[in-house]
Amino acid sequence: MVARSDKVTDPAIVAGLLLARRGQAYFSRKLNELADEDLAAPSLVPGWSRAHVAAHVGLNARALTRLTQWAATGVETPMYASPAERDREIEFAATLPPRAIRTLSAHAAVHLTVEWRDLEPEAWRHEVRTARGRVVPVSETVWMRTREVWVHAVDLANGGRFTDLPAELLDALLRDVAAAWRLRGEAGDLVLVPSDRDRVVAVSDGATRAVTGTTAELVAWATGRRRPDADGPVLGDRVAAPAPRWL
Ligand code: ZN
Repeated sequence: MVARSDKVTDPAIVAGLLLARRGQAYFSRKLNELADEDLAAPSLVPGWSRAHVAAHVGLNARALTRLTQWAATGVETPMYASPAERDREIEFAATLPPRAIRTLSAHAAVHLTVEWRDLEPEAWRHEVRTARGRVVPVSETVWMRTREVWVHAVDLANGGRFTDLPAELLDALLRDVAAAWRLRGEAGDLVLVPSDRDRVVAVSDGATRAVTGTTAELVAWATGRRRPDADGPVLGDRVAAPAPRWL
């Protein structure tokens, strides 16, 4: 039987899928607001045009689809052949005509969401390997996609703002960046202090240097996307220096 709705019933995964699909809708809306001739302009990702971002978001969906297929079939299919191959694919896809980039982005997104829909409940625990070599249950693809679509929607640089993002997502992004730094042993002295929350995010147990701002400001800064004219977040009494890299 062909499923018309998600087979998975785990409440955490169901909630995650909703956030990923809302993010996809947000990304698609921002992309659709851009005229074809606007795609050649720079994005917020250093060295990338908006066409690069749109192509990459489409190719990312394809890569994550390879992980869901791995989980569904048990046949190992990596996200990318190699990091160099990933980069080459993005560079190539960014040269496609705008209409082809839009089709790639839209079609790959639909394919991924259909793969999630049809994945059997027990297959969601199947282990797969990310492009960075982490072994994770395939359910992690939902968060991997969620952060891609929402953050890259802001990267399109046509009005998307971190303040548009749902509060639960901003909180999750802040924890995600802190976890990435912790894993690499970076910024261990920092405590991220959102002025609009009653909880802080410490990068390590002994951290004492507070970086303060709204959650949206902290996320923009921590993900390396603070606007040049932004006056937050602050570290001590001055605007914090650029954050260590996230991913
Ligand atoms: Zn990305």
